[in-house]
Order: sequence, then structure tokens, then C-alpha cells
Amino acid sequence: MADDIQRASRSGAGAVKVSFEFFPPKTPEMDTQLWEAITRLAPLRPKFISITYGAGGSTRERTHATVSRIVKETMIRPAAHLTCVAAGRAEVDSVIRGYWNAGVRHIVALRGDPAGGLGSRFEAHPDGYATSTDLVRGIRRIADFDITVSAYPEKHPESATIDQDIDVLKAKIDAGATRAITQFFFDNAHYFRFLDRARARGVHIPILPGIVPVQNFRQTASFAAKTGATMPNWLAQRFEGLDDDPATRRLIAAAVAAEQAIDLVDHGVTDLHFYTMNKADLVFAVCHLLGVRAPAEQGVAP
Ligand code: FAD
Repeated sequence: MADDIQRASRSGAGAVKVSFEFFPPKTPEMDTQLWEAITRLAPLRPKFISITYGAGGSTRERTHATVSRIVKETMIRPAAHLTCVAAGRAEVDSVIRGYWNAGVRHIVALRGDPAGGLGSRFEAHPDGYATSTDLVRGIRRIADFDITVSAYPEKHPESATIDQDIDVLKAKIDAGATRAITQFFFDNAHYFRFLDRARARGVHIPILPGIVPVQNFRQTASFAAKTGATMPNWLAQRFEGLDDDPATRRLIAAAVAAEQAIDLVDHGVTDLHFYTMNKADLVFAVCHLLGVRAPAEQGVAP
């Protein structure tokens, strides 16, 4: 009983910090949806919101336009994702300078997926940055950005072992990264095991757990299969029989994400990163449960 009373997730008031990930919109309708989501989540004062960079740099202009608009129209610090794929160093460097000139001070630096799709071999562009470590070093040379990188609690599909991934994480930190966000996972044991191993190997930067609310079970399962994240049987069972029942699926998705987030917080995690899929409701509800509120709701002046 004493444990219940002391659960961090129930103490409310502001201990949990959040960040949100969005993807750049392709159409005017998607643009409206994105800005509705940002407008709803912004009052929760996320530490940052990050905007992804499409495979092969396909969203270069849209990512730039979205982060620039966030700088101009909100008080939130945006983080712009950037990859090494299909571009020479000069081109990538001009994107980095473009971000800086637009007032962006935080980059999520990634290698990106192979141009031939996941599962094929990554071929660096002949004049490009060859690895994420290389890219982090390149960004550092250009300006004093805050640099976040990825981490893989269940290991990256191309890595032989988790230790190899931790070696790569250490190299990225030596090159200048100051924070990591994990690939999504559903069993928190994967995250805590990875955290223990990384800390034991001298990794001391924050490693934010990436939480993906299951808005669409089939889509998430197919994405998980490609990224090496396990889709546990218990999760499939929770969505079983609900193919024609979207309302219940949404409630289950919220319950699953809440359960995961609450367990992380109860085990001492203070910073959570949500893959929002450009939808606010479910993430907003989970944040509310955790006591993450707009300042006015907490009785604090904005
Ligand atoms: P890396 O750190 O580059 O690791 C990938 C593999 O390369 C590993 O097997 C690693 O062991 C190996 N490796 C890395 N460096 C070296 C080295 N120096 N020597 C030898 N081996 C090395 N993709 C996008 O296209 N756009 C996005 O916006 C995007 N955002 C993401 C955000 C997060 C939080 C995460 C977790 C992933 C994201 N991805 C994104 C996916 C990512 O691009 C892919 O998973 C990609 O396959 C790996 O890139 P990375 O930088 O995550 O991994």
C-alpha cells in the first residue's frame, strides 16, 4: 500500500517532462491536422517538438518550412531531424546552415535508412556523410547546435549485438551528441535493460524513451517488423476482434500508452518522448494522466 501512495505517476505536479514528434505534412489537409495537433499540445510546454525528415531527404523543404513556422509562431523549441541519405556533404551542410539561419538550434541527427529500403545495405553517398557519427561531427563543425541521436533498446536491425549499438552511441556522444531518443518498444524491460547496459559502459547522456501510441495496430506491427521492435503477443491480444470497432480500439490504444508511460514514470523516468503521428488527443490524455498540464491548469501564471 505504501508503494501505491508513493507512486511517482500519482504525485502529479510537473515532475514529468515531455517532447513530441511530428512528421511534415504532404497536403493542405495534413497541414491543418498537424497544426491542430501542435496547437493542442503546445500549452503542455514540451521541452521540444521534433519534425522528421522523410526517407532520402524527400521532405527537405517541408521539414524546413515546418520548423521555421514553429520558430516564428510558437514559444516551443523545435528540433529538426536530418539524415545522411542521398545527399553530398555540401547539400547536407546547406540544410544545417538553413536550419541555423531560421533560428533552429536543435537537430536530431540520423544516418537514415538505406535508399533501397529497410533490409538492403546502406550505401553512403560518394560525397556524403557515411554514418550518423560523421553527421554529428559535421553539425558540430558548423554551429553550436543541441544534437540528439537515436538509440535502439532492442538493437538496430543492422547491428550484430546491443553492445555494438552502444559502441555506436558512445561514438556519437564523443562526436558531440548530448541526448538520445529510443526507437519505440512495448515492453519497458527492453528499455531498462538497455539503460543499465549503456550506463555501465559510461553513457551518461539522457536517453529518452520513445513511446508510440498504437493508433493503427496493423500499421504499427508492420513498422515494428522493419525496425526490429518486438510486437508482443499480449499487445496483439488486446486489439484482437476489434477490426470493426474503431471507438474501442482508440480507448485500448490510450490505455496501452498510459500503462506504459505510467510504468516508466513509476520506475524513475522523468522525460518521455511521444511519437504523435500528428494526432493530439491520445497523447494529450496520457500527458494529463501524468500531471503534465498547461500552466493555467496548474494554477501557475503562463
Ligand atoms: P545509426 O546510429 O547510424 O546506426 C545504424 C546502424 O549503423 C547500426 O547497425 C550501427 O551499429 C551502424 N553504425 C553506425 N555508425 C557506425 C560506424 N561509425 N561504424 C560502423 N557501424 C556504424 N529516419 C528517417 O529517415 N528520418 C527521420 O526523421 C528519422 N527519425 C528517427 C528518430 C528516432 C528517434 C529514431 C530512433 C529513428 C529515426 N529514423 C529516421 C530511423 C533511422 O534513420 C533508421 O533507423 C536508420 O536505419 C539508422 O539510422 P540511425 O542514425 O538511427 O542509426
